[in-house]
Amino acid sequence: MKNLRDFTYEELLEEVRGLGEKPYRAEQVYGWVYRKCATDIDSMTDVSKALRERLKESYSVEGLKVLEVKSSFDGTRKFLSELSDGSRIESVLIPEGDRLTLCVSSQAGCALGCRFCMTGLSGFTRNLTLSELNGQVFAARGLLNEGETITNVVLMGMGEPLNNYDNVLRFVSILTDGRGFGFSHNKVTLSTAGLVPGIRRLGAEANINLAVSLNATTDEVRDRVMPVNKKYPLEELMDALRGYPHNGKKHVTIEYVMLANVNDSIEDAKRLIKLLRGIPCKVNLIPFNPFPGARFQAPENHMVSTFSKILQDAGYFTIVRASKGSDIQAACGQLKGRYGEEEGERDSAGG
Ligand code: SAH
Ligand code: SF4
Repeated sequence: MKNLRDFTYEELLEEVRGLGEKPYRAEQVYGWVYRKCATDIDSMTDVSKALRERLKESYSVEGLKVLEVKSSFDGTRKFLSELSDGSRIESVLIPEGDRLTLCVSSQAGCALGCRFCMTGLSGFTRNLTLSELNGQVFAARGLLNEGETITNVVLMGMGEPLNNYDNVLRFVSILTDGRGFGFSHNKVTLSTAGLVPGIRRLGAEANINLAVSLNATTDEVRDRVMPVNKKYPLEELMDALRGYPHNGKKHVTIEYVMLANVNDSIEDAKRLIKLLRGIPCKVNLIPFNPFPGARFQAPENHMVSTFSKILQDAGYFTIVRASKGSDIQAACGQLKGRYGEEEGERDSAGG
């Protein structure tokens, strides 16, 4: 059985053609799947009975199996889903003012092994398929309260989205397709640890917002906390960011996880300003979210505010990202996709 949620519009068109049907049938089915959230083929009432019967022979509509939902006092909702092979991923709905952002995972685990990231320390299982990416949007819709809609989607959950490039781009095409989920390009953001070829390709092939986890201002420190830096060092990365299309208005978001006594000094702030020269960007400072076994500590508040002020004084729009959902371990870098595991059981893997 093929899952109807595993096709972009163009791919569905091909499927429908293969069945000897007219192209408008693809539009109908696609609309049922994405706009009307059909969960079975029988409910697609304006599709002819004969075609529905034929579709049912080879296709189904399969969602994710949501194992657990945790809700924070601040409205943040984290859900854990089980994939068909038993892998587990987490996704988070985050309310912020009039926005409701869905944070989506792109992989089960992550191969990049950043030292401060719980996902990175638990290793890599596999890339998510299109229906597993889509499935997080459908599952999140099922958790909405009356009157709520998802306004933004960020690929900022578990995994490195540029390491699952093809499926992520197919997902983006559905997210931003008026016949699909219908988000504007400005409402979709992909966060990467800095895979330079992927950034260049994304700039040429998609029109979404880019966030980059910089997290250090020297190669020496970045090598240590983000091993991917050995492959794509700072100079190359900054060069790719300078080339990222901005359409005159798009700003890259620089994410900077602040680790006490590692990258939170005044010198770091000054070096960061130099690095960012010539890159239209805004800066998100993210105080490290500790987890059991972590080798880093959260920065002191005064370090965060000093750092932030230095950047602001240099003209950079800078925010300190509030730790939403911290009571349910939904904050940045705390997603781990395991279930029933006591916090204390985790060993301090990695180095
Ligand atoms: N792989 C992508 C997207 C997922 S990580 C990336 O690295 O950008 C999402 C964000 O969480 C990144 O900015 C990362 O630096 C941050 N992060 C990871 N672990 C964290 C932690 N323990 N505390 C705070 N932020 C963390
Ligand atoms: Fe992977 Fe991003 Fe975590 Fe690094 S910070 S290990 S790239 S998920």
